[in-house]
Amino acid sequence: MPLTQAKNTLENLLEELKNNPNPIDEELVQLAYVFASAAHEGQVRKSGKPYITHPLATALTLARMRLDQPTIIAGLLHDVPEETPVTLQEIKKNFGAEVAQLVEGITKLGTLKYRGIERYAENLRKMFVAMAQDIRVILIKFADRLHNLRTLEHLPKEKRERIAHETLEIYAPIANRLGIWEMQGILEDLSFKYTNPEDYEWLRTSTTHRYEQKLAYVAKLQKILEKEMLKQGMAYTIVYGRPKRLYSLYKKLLRKNKDFDKVYDLVALRIIVPAVADCYTVLGIVHGLWPPLPERLKDYIAMPKPNGYRSLHTTVFGPDGERVEVQIRTEDMNAQAEFGIAAHWVYKEKDKRQQKRELQWIQELVTWQKEIADNTEYVKKLRNIDIFSEHIFVFTPKGDVIDLPDGATVIDFAYTIHTDIGNQATGSLVNEKMVSLDTVLQDGDVIEIIRDKNRKYPNRDWLEFAKTGIARSKIRALAKPF
Ligand code: MN
Repeated sequence: MPLTQAKNTLENLLEELKNNPNPIDEELVQLAYVFASAAHEGQVRKSGKPYITHPLATALTLARMRLDQPTIIAGLLHDVPEETPVTLQEIKKNFGAEVAQLVEGITKLGTLKYRGIERYAENLRKMFVAMAQDIRVILIKFADRLHNLRTLEHLPKEKRERIAHETLEIYAPIANRLGIWEMQGILEDLSFKYTNPEDYEWLRTSTTHRYEQKLAYVAKLQKILEKEMLKQGMAYTIVYGRPKRLYSLYKKLLRKNKDFDKVYDLVALRIIVPAVADCYTVLGIVHGLWPPLPERLKDYIAMPKPNGYRSLHTTVFGPDGERVEVQIRTEDMNAQAEFGIAAHWVYKEKDKRQQKRELQWIQELVTWQKEIADNTEYVKKLRNIDIFSEHIFVFTPKGDVIDLPDGATVIDFAYTIHTDIGNQATGSLVNEKMVSLDTVLQDGDVIEIIRDKNRKYPNRDWLEFAKTGIARSKIRALAKPF
């Protein structure tokens, strides 16, 4: 996978540039590295590593996303004006106006502070303005954030949690809307560990075995399929088992209340072929080997998802009747799925127009965000335009944001905060009004749970209105049998 962790060295960065389809002046990239190293000289990260490892990691991620030269150089220089005495003017003098503008965009974005609805709205406004000016600024910000998350364990607990929340509530949905699903998935999994440590552990331990089992099973299918494809003369095809990301699995379990056995795409078999016609040929081969579940066959090539996703999906009964999802797509579709908007720099010329069309919504956001001064109203409106629509965001009395699925009730909120708070909940103050535990929460609600500290067990009747899988599983496990 292109965004897995790698060693942050100049050699790796230069090596990666060899695969870049854009014209790149390697010498200039090296100069930017020397420039940044000199500026950050003597500074260290919280991990104890030299500071330069951070901009280097950022640039490496951008290079792996096949972004263009100014973006990669801006990645190397992105913290220079903020963290060192070297100014933006000097960057402009040495690396030109385009690079300087990108770096300025990052500096302006600053550190997004995450607390309560006012700041949340402000952060979103800032992000959208920056995106409208130059979408590459956000891509640099994503790469920057990715490395910060990977080194998060070196920060104090409170800061860790803030950064992780902010990533889930602001960065991940935007990455999703831009179609950079590879990035979104990694950002989410890295954050999930810190925002919901209990659920993360629960899910990780309850899935490890299942993942291993399924991976082994899919590997078996892969062998059979490769043999058959070779026999039928299919060349240059890549086949591999792809584990579903943990946070995405978590959301699926929360949303649909499904048990694990109904999640067929825990590990999907992914097949990448050279041309669109090959996708259908392979589909035929797959169905010739294993019978499909008819209602699970999806042709997202003929009918792409609204967000532009293209691929063939089918679920088949493999040997011993186990169900497996198979995804078939071209390299082009795969790059699009992993890098989204960033993939346009790879196939630059032909996609310029499409890119403009895809970014139209950002322009619209910026236009009407000028019209809506009230932040609560603003966040509400954002919710209506599908970008953040799967969840609601509610608040603790301290202003921390909690992300819940649509339709969640007070008891879901209580269990999301802590198991004990769930077990001891008797009622709640929602926006300072007394309400019962079955009250359905609305976006922007501020919730305080009223507890009876002598109570130890949940009430089984709560299952009638608990919506999240986590609350339900805890109520089921901890409630007295009668
Ligand atoms: Mn940084």
